[in-house]
Formats: sequence, C-alpha cells, structure tokens
Amino acid sequence: MKKIHKLDDLTFDNRFVEQLPADSEVGNACRQVIGACYSHVKPTPVQDPKTIIVAREVADLLDLSDDVCISEEFTHIFAGNRLAKGMQPYAMCYGGHQFGQWAGQLGDGRAINLGEAVNTKNEHWALQLKGAGKTPYSRQSDGLAVLRSSVREFICSEAMYHLGVPTTRALSLVLTGEKVWRDMFYDGNGAYESGAIVCRVAPSFTRFGNFQIVSARGDVPLLKQLVDFTIRTDFPELGDPSEEVYLNWFSQVCLLTAQMVVHWQRVGFVHGVMNTDNMSIFGLTIDYGPYGWLEDFDLKWTPNTTDSELKRYCFGNQPKIAFWNLAQLANAIYPLIGNVNALQSTLNENYSQHFQQGWQSMMVEKLGLPDFQADTDDDLLSELTHLLQLTQTDMTLFYRQLAKVDFSVEFEALDFSLLDEAYYTPDSLNHQYKKIRLAWLEKYYSRLRDARVNEVDRISRMNAVNPLYVPRNYLLQNAIDDANKGHYEEIHQLLEVFRTPYQENSQWEKYSQKRPAWANEKAGCSMLSCSS
Ligand code: AMP
Ligand code: MG
Repeated sequence: MKKIHKLDDLTFDNRFVEQLPADSEVGNACRQVIGACYSHVKPTPVQDPKTIIVAREVADLLDLSDDVCISEEFTHIFAGNRLAKGMQPYAMCYGGHQFGQWAGQLGDGRAINLGEAVNTKNEHWALQLKGAGKTPYSRQSDGLAVLRSSVREFICSEAMYHLGVPTTRALSLVLTGEKVWRDMFYDGNGAYESGAIVCRVAPSFTRFGNFQIVSARGDVPLLKQLVDFTIRTDFPELGDPSEEVYLNWFSQVCLLTAQMVVHWQRVGFVHGVMNTDNMSIFGLTIDYGPYGWLEDFDLKWTPNTTDSELKRYCFGNQPKIAFWNLAQLANAIYPLIGNVNALQSTLNENYSQHFQQGWQSMMVEKLGLPDFQADTDDDLLSELTHLLQLTQTDMTLFYRQLAKVDFSVEFEALDFSLLDEAYYTPDSLNHQYKKIRLAWLEKYYSRLRDARVNEVDRISRMNAVNPLYVPRNYLLQNAIDDANKGHYEEIHQLLEVFRTPYQENSQWEKYSQKRPAWANEKAGCSMLSCSS
C-alpha cells in the first residue's frame, strides 16, 4: 500500500464546504449564522506544540507513514499552526436540545474541521481539531480544550473502536504549550491547566442538530439541500433523494442509533450528555465529555455532575433518550415528508423494535446463550438486572467471572466463589442476597442445559462480547495525573491495553481491577463536570 510521507500529499475532497452554502461573513466573531451550514474559520496558532501520541490504526486509515506521524510538520498541522495543501477549515452550524430544552444555535464552538481526506480505498475521512480556538459558535467560551479532557477523548474513542462500538476516531493528541483557565466544578476554584488538541476522524461529523437548526429557522429549501446532500454523500445506497428516500434515510438513522445504544448497554458506557447536538447521523458515539463506565451496576448512574439531580442521561435512560432524540430529528425533517404517521411508525419499527430485539440478543450473548427465548429469558434478564443492583457489583467483572464458573458440573458442585471478585463489599453479602442469587443461577443453569450449551462455546462466546479492559474513570485519571506532571507513558500504555479489550493478559492485571476505594470520591474518578 502506498504511504504518504508529506501531509501536503493527502488528497482532499471537501464536499461539505463545496456543496453547501457558507456563512457570508468571515472571522471568528460570535454571531447567529443564518442561511448557511458552516463558517470559514482558521485554527488559532499555538506557541509550542508537542505531539503526545498518535493512534497508528487511524494513521493507517489516512495512509500516513510512521515517519510523517513523528514529523514536526505533523505536530504543527494537528495543533492548528499550519494547513496542509487542500485543507479548507470550517466550523459547522448546528443547534440542539440540551437536557430536553431547545437551546437554539450551538455549532462547532471549539471544533474546527480541516477537510475530508480521501484514502487509497476511496474512503472519505473528515478531520477535525477539537480545541483549536474560537469560532463564530464559541459563544462566551474560549474554543479551547484542556489536557485532562483531551486524554479522555483520545483514549475512549480508540477504546470504543477496539470494543466494536461505533465511534468517531482519534488520530492525535497534541499539547499546545499554552495554559487554559478552567473552573472545573464551577465553584470559584479555577486553575490554569495545559491546553491540548485532539484530531478527531470520522466519515462525517453531521449531527441531528445540523438539521434541527435549519428547520427551527423555517428554512425548508436549506433543510432540503442539507438532507439531499447527506443522503447523496453519506447514504448513497439509498438512491436519489425523494419523499420515500427521506423516510428510508430516517429509518437508517434509527437503525444505526439503536445499534449504537445496544453496544453502549453491552459494555457499560454512559455518554453523560445525550443532547441532540451530540447525536451523530451515522450512529457514531460522538463528543466524549463527562462520560463514564459503569463500575457498580446501577441503572440510575450518571457520571455527569450537571445531571446528578434529574439523572436524565443515566445508564438506564439511554435507550429512551435516544428515542426522544430521534423524535426531535423526525420533527426537524417533517417539512420534507409531511406525514406524521409514517415518521412515527418508522421510529417505532426501526428504533424501538430494533433496539428491543438487539438488546435481547445482546444480553443473551453476554450470558453465552445461542438465542433469545421470550418464555424463559424475559425473566432471566429482568431478574439479572435486579440481582446486579442488590449489592455493589462490578458489571465488567461479573460477566467475566461468570464465564469462569464451570457449569458442566452438577448444580450443587458449582463454585460461586469466583463471583466474589465482582463485589465491592464481598463480605457483606447477606442471606437474602445469596438466596436470590442462587435462584437466578439455578435458572441460568437449567437454561444452559435446555439449550445444550457446550461449556467451551459458552466461555468463548461470553468473552467475545464481555470486555475485560474498559476505560474505567480511575485508570484514565491516573494517566491524566501523570500527564499533568509531564509523563505520558501511561497514555501509551492505556491505548495498548485497550487495543485488545477482550483478551486476558497476565501482565495487565492492574487494568482490570475494580475501582479502588481511593477513587470513590476523587474528582475525575466518580464525578465529572462538563468543563473541558
Ligand atoms: P458540548 O456540551 O461539549 O456538547 O458543547 C455544547 C456546545 O458548547 C457546542 O456548541 C460546543 O461547541 C460548545 N462549547 C463547549 N465547550 C466550549 C469551549 N471551551 N469553547 C467554545 N465552545 C464550547
Ligand atoms: Mg457537543
């Protein structure tokens, strides 16, 4: 495969800027951008950039050679100091519902798209810098990102990819050499933190909010132009845009979103801010802010301090919030379709039903069963959900340990002590809990027998969908604490561990440990704010 040795040799095909209307005003001053899908902007140059890490898998997507990734040119381009030939930087205009309320225009306030690179396989990959300075959409903020949140975005994007969860990718993490003021918990205790920039990579960064803002302004011709563009460029298999194709497109977005949320529930990922501006039209996980990973299984858990009262975006709500968000997208594109019933039934069939089936299949896979049988598995799954919440149980370790229990023996001879590792307080399991657990295990045991599940198959099936290594908040916080002292080895180590999240590796025991006591109340480990 031909590799690129100079970034100027990348091929760009910037369809978004070339085919959609631009804001007629230039410059970074904050404004309402009417009648346009984006604004031309330039990244703000930074003083002393330094590349911390490059994800080689993402460099491969762009055909970048190893030497180009360690070049000075690379650092300057992905810090926003220079543009490669063919890049046309711009910020997108979008709106959104934040925490259920229409918030009007939001837009790329700290993200600047560089262009769409085309690789040798003819795939389009949009490149976007996060934290490269103000744009017309920055409102009261600085357009910058700090090292802490950039490490979190970089590692989690790539971990999600290796876990098999649809996601935007991260090419690079670059320090700007500048300081950024942040009041992390909005409590008057601000401090300077290191500035950083992640280069995100995705087939498209279009969000539900891109359609919402145009529709909210009543600009139906522009809405049509944007939807037609999206179908032609991102969903060409659907054919030429027409009323029927609009509906098919919406059903695709519903299916992709359902698949994404099934994966989130499988791995225990909580997005934290499922606003409609953070929903990708491709069903990609996007905008890694105050996200978190379930440790003790709790449907009501959210890592986001801003949402600690209402818990709108907690783990157990994610499926219905995705539905609500899709309904907002349906409202936005309604002027092109004019048929409420058709939109509603598409949403029900392609989101609700698809999610339900996908979730059921996913859950029985987590248990190593071949398929979902409603007469037994409805109860099996709801009782498991109940059991996991009775005492603090680490979701990730529970499934991995359950795979280790040998179910080929007589029920009385099963060794449940293997499950102890999954409990945060194993010594406090009371009689009542043990009784409920025994009843569930008996049900699971007989279900395995009835389905004639071979033990070797069960273990391999379970370990293929139940990860052992996930970006637990405390692991990321350790890497962040080191990085803030100028040590970046742990970031490299985490990326390496998360490359093979399903494969147990005896050298990596410390990366599969449940949250240690010190992390229970530490900022960044148990609670996160939106400040980034
Ligand atoms: P988020 O909560 O990260 O999805 O962001 C919501 C909106 O605020 C988006 O329009 C962001 O671009 C914008 N935003 C968030 N942080 C910043 C920042 N530091 N500077 C400028 N805009 C920001
Ligand atoms: Mg966002």
